[in-house]
Amino acid sequence: MIIVLKPGTPEEGIQQVVDAVKQFEYEPRLIRGVERTIIACVGDERNHHTLESLIVLPQVESVTPVQKKYKLVSREYHSANTVLDVAGLQIGGGQFHVVAGPCSVESQQQTIETAKTVKLAGATLFRGGAFKPRTSPYDFQGLGKEGLELLRQAREQTGLPIITEVMSPQDVETVAEIADVLQIGARNAQNVPLLAAAAASGKTILLKRGMASLIEEWLLAAEYICVHGNSKVILCERGIRTFEHACRNTLDVSAVALAKQETHLPVFVDPSHAAGRFDMVIPLSRAAVAAGADGLLIEVHPNPAAALSDGGQQLKPRQFAQLMAEIRPFVEAMGKRMAAG
Ligand code: PEP
Ligand code: MN
Repeated sequence: MIIVLKPGTPEEGIQQVVDAVKQFEYEPRLIRGVERTIIACVGDERNHHTLESLIVLPQVESVTPVQKKYKLVSREYHSANTVLDVAGLQIGGGQFHVVAGPCSVESQQQTIETAKTVKLAGATLFRGGAFKPRTSPYDFQGLGKEGLELLRQAREQTGLPIITEVMSPQDVETVAEIADVLQIGARNAQNVPLLAAAAASGKTILLKRGMASLIEEWLLAAEYICVHGNSKVILCERGIRTFEHACRNTLDVSAVALAKQETHLPVFVDPSHAAGRFDMVIPLSRAAVAAGADGLLIEVHPNPAAALSDGGQQLKPRQFAQLMAEIRPFVEAMGKRMAAG
């Protein structure tokens, strides 16, 4: 931490800050300028109490951290890309994966039919929500346990590993019985008890970025999972809230590039929830690949017009096949290969 004191701070004011810094077990090093004094506080900011509260002292002008708050997810800690094994698939290691499936699991026919068609088009994992975090309590809330059973059948019939959302710590055990990857959604991206409970399951976790989360907050949420003993995390950018209304959210392409640079974890992109409209999903997918994503999460429905949730953004099977064909040259240009199931 760097503490800058206000100009003309008397000696006793300087000493008061020095004492406070020592109390927090940092080693203060004074830099005395003509007008101001700066105190460089030496110590690992991640293991020490923060000094940011010293801003309340009248002689302190600013307190600035110099270290990043996250550690286990950082490239400084682990420089090589983490490659995760999910049911025999290698994620994050140069193979590009497309997760596809409906927003919600609605019925046996819809689930199995979608799983079969996305597999045929080249998806390597199947998604579908059984527990749905809907904005309105009057909207379809998902089939819950019955939905999980349909996902189990989809895996049995296609062999595709399953990604599905878990919304509360109490459900982790039940969802983890079926899921190969637990999804933590945007609305729960900073739900610490959920992050801890999901980590304890030992499953791979796909962590969405909160719709108003800073990149740092997203990475710190991933750090929570790692701190709880599970470093099998896939980061997923899914668009953030901005002033723009033309799309449901704004896909933050820079977050993808930055997460790839800052962390060793695989980074996926969900252009479906970013766009909120089917006609933007292919172009945003190309952008995601070009920004360095390791995979995509795409909503696909056999009949989006009849979907019980997110109808406007789900691709028809034919459009999904088109997406798969259109991203291939981008994936190859990035030096990656489309993963085979
Ligand atoms: C989803 O993937 O079904 C979902 C609800 O996404 P998000 O949490 O990103 O809104
Ligand atoms: Mn959805």
